[in-house]
Formats: sequence, structure tokens, C-alpha cells
Amino acid sequence: MIPSVLPTYTRAPLHFVKGEGSWLVEEDGRRFLDLGSGIAVNALGHAHPALVAALTEQAGKLWHVSNLYEIPQQQALADKLVGATFADTVFFTNSGTEACELAVKMARKYWYDKGLPEKTDIIAFSGSFHGRSSAGIAAAGSEKMVKGFGPLLPGFKHLDWRDFDALKDAIDDNTAAVLLEPIQGEGGIRPLPDDELKAIRALCDEKGCLLVLDEVQCGMGRTGRLFAHEWAGIVPDIMMVAKGIGGGFPLGAVLATEEAASGMTAGTHGSTYGGNPLGCAVGCAVMDHVAEPEFLAEVNRKAGFLRQKLEGLIAAHPDIFEEVRGSGLMLGLKVKPAPAEFVKAGYEALVITVPAADNVVRLLPALTISDDEIAEAIARLDAAASALETA
Ligand SMILES: *Cc1c(COP(=O)(O)O)cnc(C)c1O
Repeated sequence: MIPSVLPTYTRAPLHFVKGEGSWLVEEDGRRFLDLGSGIAVNALGHAHPALVAALTEQAGKLWHVSNLYEIPQQQALADKLVGATFADTVFFTNSGTEACELAVKMARKYWYDKGLPEKTDIIAFSGSFHGRSSAGIAAAGSEKMVKGFGPLLPGFKHLDWRDFDALKDAIDDNTAAVLLEPIQGEGGIRPLPDDELKAIRALCDEKGCLLVLDEVQCGMGRTGRLFAHEWAGIVPDIMMVAKGIGGGFPLGAVLATEEAASGMTAGTHGSTYGGNPLGCAVGCAVMDHVAEPEFLAEVNRKAGFLRQKLEGLIAAHPDIFEEVRGSGLMLGLKVKPAPAEFVKAGYEALVITVPAADNVVRLLPALTISDDEIAEAIARLDAAASALETA
């Protein structure tokens, strides 16, 4: 008999009942050190007092009004994002995949309004992940995500990740945009080096197409800058954001330049819940912390500490680990056993990690993790590795 919850996830038998900072408490009382953060969502850890205050205060006042009216919390969050980034304008969604839908619509509408309606193709890359909506799966194009769900949304081309020569050949008069994650998350923490992102930006300018960045996972302070593309010193035309921006409340956004957004006039897009007062009140509180230079400096310092400790861990367990890669607090351990095996051994050692493709186990701790918690994380990862060695 089919379970009452549609069985699209293989779930671990863990029932968390409480979260405190970097810790998750199981029903039976065990305390797990959380290096997954709900997959890069709980940027400020669990139950951060400022987020609890923002949410409960707003919950006592007003939950929802339609986007037919002005929403001050939404305006405030948009102003903060515009003030802190390349963007001139923001549309709020409830998730990353909804942001993908709008990013694709926006890119196509831009060229349509420019009198170039043939420019509809989106070029995306192997190993990418852009969510589970029709545009998201068509963009990623991996067999795992699209098999059986055809016919797919047309107009997507797929190239090998980091094949710059193929990209040069592929961009043509029908190309609307190039879409990529500066660091692939689900694909196995596969970063695009800064010089390559710079070269892609220049190529898009030269050939006349938009650059759309998916920073749903790598954005919101995760790499030690507010957004990962800042490391390369470039700006996109359109950017997808979600996960960390709500700190655990469902919230996403599309950020864009005035030029790239110029086709999106009144009536061309909408969302019932997108930009609701609750989500935006929480988003404002997240931004007030994460966008602070001192906060980001701490992320960088802690990332350096964690990375150094991980290098030691890898050296101590050559049969388990191959390498560590990634940026800031978005790290991947390439493992020799199946990633799911390592994640399971982690559960036994009371540490939570997240599997990804390419034999990688992801470490995506709360950006607020302390030095002591990093030391404890290493001890628990060490215990998990040792258990697998003797297994
Ligand atoms: C998680 C993720 C998405 C999809 O976000 P949802 O909120 O699950 O729809 C899109 N892109 C990237 C890079 C992601 O990591």
C-alpha cells in the first residue's frame, strides 16, 4: 500500500523535535551536530532568537495579504537586497524552483521585447540542479530528473560543466541566456573557478546573451561573501536565490538588473504567497545578520579553520576520504565508500551530513557554527570514518 506521504524521498528514521543553533534533538533525546542545515537553509542555525522574534512578532499582526496591495516587509527586504547587490529589482517566490521559472520567463521576455523573439534558448550544464518544476528539470536535463516526465519544456541546451570551448560554439543567435550555479551543489560541490566565471561573463557580453546565476545554494553568505559570484568580481543579469534567505521559512527571490527585468511589466508574472509579510519579515532579519561585513568575515575565518581541520581528517583516513573541495562553509568531502554509507555512519556518530552526486558528502553547517562546534564536528566525522574503516 502506498504510504500516506507520497514516497518520493528515501528517509532516514530520525525524528527531530527541536533545533538549537547547530544542534538537532531527536525524539529519544540524542543531540546531533547538524552539518546539513536542512540543505543550506538554516543559515543562522535553528531557532535563532532574532528570527524567532521576527516571525512571532509578524505572526501576531498580519500573515497574508495579496500582492494587490503594498507590503511594507516585502518592500523593506527588496530594498535591502538591492542595496547589497548588483540588482535593481526583486521578485519574491516561495522556493528555488519558482525562482527558476521566473528567471527563464524573464530572460525570454527580455529578448522578445527587444524585437528578437527567436532568442529563447537557455544553455545549462551537466551536473546542475535548478529545482523540480518543469523549467527546473528541463534546465538540469539529467536522466534521473526528467525520465518519464516528457514532453519537456523546449529550448534548453546542455553542455559539459566547465567546457568553455563548447560554450563558445553553442551560443548563437537563438541563445537567450546561460544559466549556471557558481558552485554546483547537488552535483557534488563542483566550483567554477573565478577566472572561468569571468570568461563566461565576458563571452555572454560579447555574444549578446544574458547570464543567469543560480545562487539558491551557494548564496546568502555561504561562501563568505553575500553571493558567490562576488569572488569573481562579476555581476549576473539575473540571479535566483532561495534556501538561506528565509533561514528556514519558505522564501525565494529573483534579483535582476533594470535592463534584464525590463520585459516584466504589470500582469506578466505573479504569485499568491510570494513576498508575504511573514516570509519577508524573517528574510529582513536574515539579511540584517548575513549581509554584515563582520558576519561574513567570521564565516571566512571559520571556513579557514574548518578547512584546515578537514585536511587533517583526510590525511588520517586515506581509505575513506579523497579530497575536500568547495568554498567557505559550502564544502564537499569526496569519499571512497558510497556517500550514503558515510552519511549513515555519521548518524551513528551523531553528526548530520548530506550526500551529493560525484561521490561527495556535503558539509553545509549553520553560518553561525562556533569554533568549539567545528572541533566537535571533526571529532564526530573522525568517529564515522573510523567506524567505516573497521566495518
Ligand atoms: C535547492 C536548489 C534549487 C531548488 O530549490 P527549491 O526551493 O527546492 O525549489 C534550485 N537550485 C539550486 C542550486 C538548489 O540548490
